[in-house]
Amino acid sequence: MVVPVQPESPRADPPDTIQAVTPTLCHLLGLDLPALCTVPPVDFVLRAAHAGLGGARIDRCLVYAPDAIGNHLQAGYSDLFAEIARLAPTTVALRAVFPPKTPVCFASMFTGAPPADHGIRKYERPVLQCDTLFDALVRAGRRTAIVAVTDSSMDQLFRGRDVHYFSESDDKDVTARTLALIAADRHEFIVVYHQEYDDLLHETTPFSDSAIRAFRNHVNAFRTLVDATEESWLGHDRVIVFAPDHGAHIGPETMTGTHGDDIPQDMELRHFYRFGANGHTAGNHPDASGGARTTDQAGGQI
Ligand SMILES: [Zn+2]
Repeated sequence: MVVPVQPESPRADPPDTIQAVTPTLCHLLGLDLPALCTVPPVDFVLRAAHAGLGGARIDRCLVYAPDAIGNHLQAGYSDLFAEIARLAPTTVALRAVFPPKTPVCFASMFTGAPPADHGIRKYERPVLQCDTLFDALVRAGRRTAIVAVTDSSMDQLFRGRDVHYFSESDDKDVTARTLALIAADRHEFIVVYHQEYDDLLHETTPFSDSAIRAFRNHVNAFRTLVDATEESWLGHDRVIVFAPDHGAHIGPETMTGTHGDDIPQDMELRHFYRFGANGHTAGNHPDASGGARTTDQAGGQI
């Protein structure tokens, strides 16, 4: 029986925000929602998961969160987005939350709450005291790891839980650590944060040669991580997510990269999901969402 691989859905207008990551992952992983989550899951992603996995509860999840890979890069670097979409073909258009600053956005992404509710409304990095996706994972007994560069927002915000925290010196070490964790297969949920592109866009511009090299490094790292999951997590129903936090633009005063405004360059982005069924590589399972077909929310090819 041939199951439709990618259901089509009209693009939400206005699109969901990155708050929707938490209820979507909770639904896929069979978790109760954290207390402050006020938004529904992305139905389009749930239907793609159902088409790929037949409703199985996913028991391995890797969230790759590269800082500041927003739609501002789409026009000039569609080839790199096409590579991301080849790896993770279920694509959703999302908006950041305001202000589009890293700790504000990751706090919303992993609580399902708007900034007014989780309390981070500007660039500050307290340890969040409110209920988060990580608390929901711990309550459900899921072994969880956060791998990030030392002192980054992802390294700081979600401390104090029964989560394994890995603080590394740079993106390369973050990747190496994550590959070791995937191979060991002792964690059910891993968040991986990379920051080279964001570092360089602030030093230069979002479109400088060095910044784009960093974007390319993030895409290559994502491919490496996906390949590792296909090898070591093959015996699990799994989801891999490419989940940046916000975009960026060139500040007219400094002429360097910045973000934090309510403008499309800073607020608009896409997330990408890849589903793999137990025992099948994502591209080979007849029902899975991997392989050559890539469909976004509007049903368009990208
Ligand atoms: Zn950021």
